[in-house]
Amino acid sequence: MIHFVGAGPGAADLITLRGKSLLENADVIIYAGSLVNPELLNCAKRGCIVHNSAEMTLSEILDAMRTAASQGKSVVRLHTGDPSLYGAVREQMDGLAEQGIPYEVCPGVSSFCAAAASLRTEYTLPGVSQTVILSRAAGRTAVPERETIRALAAHRATMVLFLSAGLLETVSADLIAGGYTPETPAAIVYKASWPEEKVTRCTVGTLFAEAAGITKTALICVGDFLGDAYELSRLYDAGFSTGFREARG
Ligand code: SAH
Repeated sequence: MIHFVGAGPGAADLITLRGKSLLENADVIIYAGSLVNPELLNCAKRGCIVHNSAEMTLSEILDAMRTAASQGKSVVRLHTGDPSLYGAVREQMDGLAEQGIPYEVCPGVSSFCAAAASLRTEYTLPGVSQTVILSRAAGRTAVPERETIRALAAHRATMVLFLSAGLLETVSADLIAGGYTPETPAAIVYKASWPEEKVTRCTVGTLFAEAAGITKTALICVGDFLGDAYELSRLYDAGFSTGFREARG
């Protein structure tokens, strides 16, 4: 069996209990390079074979999985954050399915969740935004025309950009051209949950100037959720009845 496992955003104790147990029992671990905390590999049992997928091609990864599966071994394919976001997992899943090799997925804590924790905030504030757009700037991987940062910025919703820290000048210009004001609050969260974590609060207009050389392993968070104004929730409003509580007073 092949298990795709989300390693979490960095801190070794942010992997799920299920993910940790799968790691401890794996005969083969294929981990996704430097974004996976090496401490997690200490969970491997004695004799476990460990591969770094940063040095492998898709067909080499699939070969390693096939060989292990044909010997009845348990394989953990360890991805950063949650495997479903920018993990290139679909091509691996389809490669396995073509060969009739069974696989399962164990979710993980995505870095965008860790960034909200580092910022000590909430992405979905009443009266501000009820939508989180997860996206990226176009790089070597193209982004469909209808999903450019400029097009998405028209919503002025909460936005979290992956894989874009090296392109801040363009990102800032596109966010403004799309609809955010240059004064809209923004933050650069570098290595959320790692010991080297660094949080830089700035505005959409000053993103590039404030990055101070950060070009990778960072998320760009944008939107008025980083500001001070919002409405209180209905959920805990004393004047509001819910299925669990009558309105008071
Ligand atoms: N599947 C991962 C994302 C992989 S793409 C997830 O769910 O988080 C790699 C990109 O994710 C990095 O370039 C960076 O933008 C972001 N990233 C991953 N870990 C991060 C962390 N701890 N702090 C900030 N950004 C991170």
